Amino acid sequence: MKRIKKLLVANRGEIALRIMRSAREMGIQTVAVFSQADRNALHVRFADEAICIGPPASSQSYLVMNKIIEAALEANADAIHPGYGFLSENENFAAEVKKAGLIFIGPSAESIELMGSKLAAKTAAAKFNVPLVPGTAEPISDIPQAKKIASEIGYPILIKASAGGGGKGMRVVNHEAEFEEQMERATSEAMSAFGDGAVFIEKYVTQPRHIEFQIFGDQHGNVVHLFERECSIQRRHQKVIEEAPSSILTPELRAKMGKAAVDVAKSANYYNAGTVEFIVDENKNFYFLEMNTRLQVEHPVTEQITGFDLVKLQIKIAEGEKLPFQQEDLSIHGHAIEVRVYAEDPNNNFLPDIGTLKTYRRPQGHGIRVDDGFEQGMAIPFYYDPMIAKMICHDETRERAIEKTIRAIDEYEITGLETTLGFCKFVMKHEAFRSGDFDTKFVEKYFKPEFLEEKSVEDEEIIASILATQVVNESKTAPLKTQHNITTSSNWKKNRNN
Ligand code: ADP
Ligand code: ADP
Ligand code: MG
Repeated sequence: MKRIKKLLVANRGEIALRIMRSAREMGIQTVAVFSQADRNALHVRFADEAICIGPPASSQSYLVMNKIIEAALEANADAIHPGYGFLSENENFAAEVKKAGLIFIGPSAESIELMGSKLAAKTAAAKFNVPLVPGTAEPISDIPQAKKIASEIGYPILIKASAGGGGKGMRVVNHEAEFEEQMERATSEAMSAFGDGAVFIEKYVTQPRHIEFQIFGDQHGNVVHLFERECSIQRRHQKVIEEAPSSILTPELRAKMGKAAVDVAKSANYYNAGTVEFIVDENKNFYFLEMNTRLQVEHPVTEQITGFDLVKLQIKIAEGEKLPFQQEDLSIHGHAIEVRVYAEDPNNNFLPDIGTLKTYRRPQGHGIRVDDGFEQGMAIPFYYDPMIAKMICHDETRERAIEKTIRAIDEYEITGLETTLGFCKFVMKHEAFRSGDFDTKFVEKYFKPEFLEEKSVEDEEIIASILATQVVNESKTAPLKTQHNITTSSNWKKNRNN
C-alpha cells in the first residue's frame, strides 16, 4: 500500500477546491494547475503550490496531458486527481499517469476505455442481464438498413454517438421522413465533438426519469452502491437539479436497480467511484444508459444522505485500501437536493450569460452546503463551463429539503449576471416537482420564461406596497421597523435579478 503525500488536482473551479479540501484534512499536500485565465482563481490560492500550464483555452492547458504530468513530476506529487470533465474520462491520460509512476485517482485505463464507448458498455452489461433500452448493438452507417431497424423499433427513436457525452451527438427522430437528415447531423456532430462518428439507434423513451446509482469498488474485487440520485430536471439533456433519494423508488426497486448497477461495475472490473445511469419509464421499467467513470458533479447529494466524504474514499481506494463497509452497513439518512447555479439566462433558452459577480452572497444555516469557486467581484471566464456554484440542502424529509432550498435561494444574492436560481425556485414551487410526478420533459412541459417575469411583476406590486409603508413609517418615526423594511426591499431586488 502506497500512501499519498502530495496530490496534484488536474482541474479548476469548485471541484478542484472540493478535492483539495478533503486532501488537506487527510494531511496530504496539494498542487494546483492553472491556465493564464485562472491566475487569481480560488483553487490556485488554496493549494500549497500552483503551476501555470498554459493559455486560457482548455485545449492548450487543462486538456494537455503531458503538461499536467510534467507538473506533477516537477512538484514531486505522487498522485493525480482528474475531477470531472477535462481529462477525467480519458483512458490515455489514466495510462500515462500510471506509466509516469504516479497514482491515478480513479478506475483503471481499461475500465475507462470500455465504459467510454456507450456501445461497448451496453455489450458488457448485457452479459450480466442488465436491462437495456431496445436498440442496435453495433454502430450503424448504412441509411436504408438504419431506417429499417428504426421502423422495427418504432418511432420516436434516438440517434446517439457511441463516444458521446455532455448531451452532444444526440438526435431525436419522430418520423421516418426526418431520419436521414438527423442521422447525418448526429454523425457529423459526433465526428467534430469526439473525433469518432460512430452512432447507434435507441428507442426514445417518451416519459423517462433519469435515475443513477453511485457505485464504489476497491482493488480487491468488492463493489457496493451508495444508493441513487434522481436527475430528471434537465435542460438540453443536461442536469440542473438533482436529489437523493428518488421519490419513486420502493425499497424493492432500489435493491434491484442497485444490484444491476453493481453488476455493470463488475462487468468492467471496476474500482474507485463511478456512476451507473438508468432511465426509468412510466411503468417503472428501468434500462441501463451509460456509466460515468469518474466523480460526478452531483456527488454531494450522496455525501449528504450517507455521511461519507467520497473524495476521501476515492483517495483511500487509490492507495489500495479495502472498502470500509459492506452493502448491508449502508443506509439513507434524510433527503438532499442540489441546485446547480449556472451563469445562464433562463429567459434566453438557458444560454450562457457570462459576466462579473457584482454582488455575491452565499446562503447559510442548518443543512446548507455551497460548493463554488468564486468570490464577489470575480468574473466568470467564458472559456469554461459556466457553472458558478452547487447549492446542496439536506433535511429530514423531502418536503423539508424543498422548503430549505426555497429559503436558501431567496437568501442567495447574485447580481451582475443572470443565473438559474430563479428557475430552480420555480421548480421547487411547482406541483409536479413537489408531488414527485415529473420526468425529463419537465422544462418543455411546464416552464415558460414568462413565469419568471410574471413573478417579478407580482413582486413589483409587493415592493410598491412595502415602499409605500416604509415612507409612511419613516414619517412616523420607528427606526427599527424602517430598518426591517429596507432589508426586505434589498431582498426583493435580488430576487428580481435571479
Ligand atoms: P454529470 O452527470 O456529472 O453532470 P456531465 O455529462 O454533465 O456529467 O459532465 C460533467 C462535465 O464533464 C461537464 O463539464 C461536461 O461538459 C464535461 N463532459 C462530459 N462528457 C464530456 C466529453 N465527452 N468531452 C468533454 N467534456 C465532457
Ligand atoms: P450523455 O453522455 O450525454 O450524458 P446519456 O446517454 O447519459 O448521454 O443521455 C443523456 C440524457 O438524455 C439522459 O439523462 C436522458 O435524459 C436522455 N436520454 C438518453 N437516452 C434516452 C432514451 N433512449 N430515451 C429517452 N431519453 C434518453
Ligand atoms: Mg449521461
